[in-house]
Amino acid sequence: MSGLRAGMIGLGAMGAPMARHLAAQGHLRGVWNRTANRGEALARELSVVAASDPAALAGLCDVVLICVSADADLRAVVRALLPGLRPGMVVVDTSTVSPLTARELAAELNERDVGFVDAPVSGGVEGAVKGRLSVMVGGKSADISRIRPLLDSFAATVTHMGAGGAGQAAKAVNQVMVGGIAEAVCEGLALAEKLNLDQQRLLSVLGAGAADSWFLQHRGPSMLQNRFAEGFKLALLRKDLEIVQSLARELDISLETVALALRDCESLVAGGDGDCDISALITLKRRPATGR
Ligand code: NAP
Repeated sequence: MSGLRAGMIGLGAMGAPMARHLAAQGHLRGVWNRTANRGEALARELSVVAASDPAALAGLCDVVLICVSADADLRAVVRALLPGLRPGMVVVDTSTVSPLTARELAAELNERDVGFVDAPVSGGVEGAVKGRLSVMVGGKSADISRIRPLLDSFAATVTHMGAGGAGQAAKAVNQVMVGGIAEAVCEGLALAEKLNLDQQRLLSVLGAGAADSWFLQHRGPSMLQNRFAEGFKLALLRKDLEIVQSLARELDISLETVALALRDCESLVAGGDGDCDISALITLKRRPATGR
């Protein structure tokens, strides 16, 4: 055991299973969640403290891990943590935000002698539940070595990509591929439905060949049954693709697949499907091409 006392903030689809792994390895002291009953329920389940606010949680811990939705949410949580942070503590962000946000928060916290590690994750809700996430890390080596046992509790791999923000830069690349693969798999399966192909046999033959992917394996069967309730929300992919687009503008590179995936996400979010899993993209692909 590391001897580190950890707290977890943000107990959604990803944060709750990550907290369970931290608890199973004996690291977790407390949790905080904006919607209090979620935090209280998990604290009861794991026999840890349900802190009254982020600063109170920081007071119990050496390391605070965060998994919230977007840049503004992360900034708000870090602001609320400030009164409870002490020199020598480390804040670890596992949310997906822009590299700029990660660099700015690292600079702000480092001024107070508090470490900041950006540690976005990939592997979906299934990866979080199984403790098999791929973690892309940016920050100082000394901070990362210290908190490594905490990341190991929910990770299959932990890769130090470079200085502060480098983990989020790697995650942006990951999301270009996540968006593109989702577009391709949803288009392919929408076409398969029109061709009246046997779904079981199709998934099996595709999964055994070069078109296989995490998304096909984990979301192929459920999207063909119109089940989109759980997973990675369209609103979150939209946020990620906006981060990617802003990086592309900055670097003067044109990412056409990202533009397409972003347009499709925006359309579904505007129609009220923002909380659906990204496999709901297939519902757009099923629409008649004429009159779109
Ligand atoms: P989620 O289920 O929607 O959970 C979001 C969590 O953030 C909730 O606990 C929510 O609190 C909290 N939150 C949001 N805004 C907040 C704020 N302003 N202040 C405090 N707490 C706030 O989302 P998720 O799927 O766990 O995703 C979390 C992060 O992981 C996102 O950055 C996402 O892009 C990334 N990610 C997700 C996946 C995936 O497959 N789902 C995979 C890799 C990475 P409430 O309970 O009060 O709403």
